[in-house]
Amino acid sequence: MSLLENKDDLKTLVETLNFKEKVERSLGLIKEAFKIYGDGLVVANSLGKDSVAVWDLAKKVSPKIRGFIITTRFKPKETVGFMNEMTARYPELNVYKSDVKIPDKLYETDPDKCCDLLKVKPTRQAIEDMKVKCWVTGLRSTEGRTRTDFKEVEERDKGLIKLNPILIWKEREVWQYLALNGVKVNQLYGEGYRSLGCAPCTRITNEEDERAGRWIGTSKCGGECGIHTRPLKINQEGDGI
Ligand code: SF4
Repeated sequence: MSLLENKDDLKTLVETLNFKEKVERSLGLIKEAFKIYGDGLVVANSLGKDSVAVWDLAKKVSPKIRGFIITTRFKPKETVGFMNEMTARYPELNVYKSDVKIPDKLYETDPDKCCDLLKVKPTRQAIEDMKVKCWVTGLRSTEGRTRTDFKEVEERDKGLIKLNPILIWKEREVWQYLALNGVKVNQLYGEGYRSLGCAPCTRITNEEDERAGRWIGTSKCGGECGIHTRPLKINQEGDGI
């Protein structure tokens, strides 16, 4: 049976597949999807460790696979530097950034709105501009409380497939892959961060939850910016950009 149609129990896979089997499964998922969607398969590269692992896997499947990066005015300078290195090396990575005017400190007063304007809307634009049929993410089911219910292949928006090829990898296995394949990561990981985002909304923590340092002190604490939970097809909500 096609890997894309599997109904395997994810929790069992997380605990029973070994590192090599997980890497082979991830490559298999991307290969099958690339065969179907070709140029319409595009990697969403957040520049975090999971995304750069997925990007490396995708490049092993085909150097032609394209990607997009959503950046914001609030990204740390280290992330901007890393992004510039990545885009210089991979011109097939398109950068999207919204310059829309927003109220001062919106990330404190209404972080959902801030993420919607600066992250979700540019993601919709990337999907529209790049004619994406299947977007590929670095989501992992063990990352935090909001990430336990995703599937390896989903169709949350009609006509837009979402592939999560490393959904069953543990944090340790991501680092194992990056080390074994010599993949460079954002220097902020060296400071102690485990999940990277915009500077005002990201802290170093020692919590068990990998995403616990995101949006501390707000209703979004440890949560999501919205690109994995909101509709992504323009005009689906009537408010696309
Ligand atoms: S992570 Fe924070 S600063 Fe970045 S878009 Fe979301 S609320 Fe705004």
